[in-house]
Amino acid sequence: MHAAVHDSVSVVFEPDLLCSYLRERDIEASRFDSSRTDEYDLVVSFHPDETFFDVPWVHGVRAGYDEFPVERYAEEGVTFTNSTGIHGTTIGETVAGMMLSFARRLHVYRDHQGRGEWAREPYEAPFTLDGERLCVVGLGTLGQGIARRAAGLGMEVVGVRRSTDPVPGVDRVYHTEDLHDAIADARFVALAVPLTEATEGLFGPEEFDGMREDAYLLNVARGGVVEQDALVSALESGALAGAGLDVFDPEPLPESSPLWGMEEVIVTPHVGAMTNRYHADVGDLVVENVERTEREEELVNRIV
Ligand code: NAD
Repeated sequence: MHAAVHDSVSVVFEPDLLCSYLRERDIEASRFDSSRTDEYDLVVSFHPDETFFDVPWVHGVRAGYDEFPVERYAEEGVTFTNSTGIHGTTIGETVAGMMLSFARRLHVYRDHQGRGEWAREPYEAPFTLDGERLCVVGLGTLGQGIARRAAGLGMEVVGVRRSTDPVPGVDRVYHTEDLHDAIADARFVALAVPLTEATEGLFGPEEFDGMREDAYLLNVARGGVVEQDALVSALESGALAGAGLDVFDPEPLPESSPLWGMEEVIVTPHVGAMTNRYHADVGDLVVENVERTEREEELVNRIV
């Protein structure tokens, strides 16, 4: 089995880190070279590339695969696997951090620090997460990672999914049809759904109007799940208290966006899942699937 690591993975880790990690686990691995595709059994990549159609198996290093031409892979007999399942801890901690910052006002004090300013927030501004309600929309790896950490912080956690089967750590599960009921009483709403035809623009003016005025929106899914102009309007009008945003449409967020300048908005540059062991988390998935291939078993995270 020869795995090629495409340069595009450098968005999240140094390609050589994964090559070494795989070699240490007895998998032949090298940097991808488009003139050698006939030698590869597998290419590991962040972005798709036309040359991948010559390789039998493509592994995407992200959970979202909206960018990959999976229908064409299916037509041309290329296997595609993704990296869902590895981001529950990172994203869970990122969302917990954003909520803690809003409640304990850390983002405001950090801004003050930059100006060398010793200034207190008004008495009514700080609150505790304990007892506050979080609504998590999408209860897969990300959603459950967020829910678990929120429950550990003493929050009341509700969720939205396409079935109402119970989920550990989630006090109540609403069906997607009841999204508006689920978000109505929440102090925080976290988005953790993939970007699909059904979720594109899922949050727009109607949803923001239906949320509490002291509510915070947390988007760690994809920018396109939110109508960004409507979010800006909701924040400007006071229909929402604030937002923690890791993903945007478009990315990078243009310098001209009003979101940059809003005190009650935390902007992170699509790094919510970053960790210094990302290459190892992806590597473990690849090793697992290489072993499954050798045992002629079904691959994990197989999309096509
Ligand atoms: P996952 O497949 O484990 O979970 C997604 C869940 O969303 C599934 O349970 C699915 O049933 C549910 N879902 C799909 N459509 C829905 C809808 N209309 N309403 C409610 N639930 C719906 O995937 P994951 O690993 O949790 O990742 C989810 C998405 O988050 C990815 O597709 C990706 O776009 C995004 N993501 C972002 C980052 C980041 O860096 N910010 C990192 C990882 C994933």
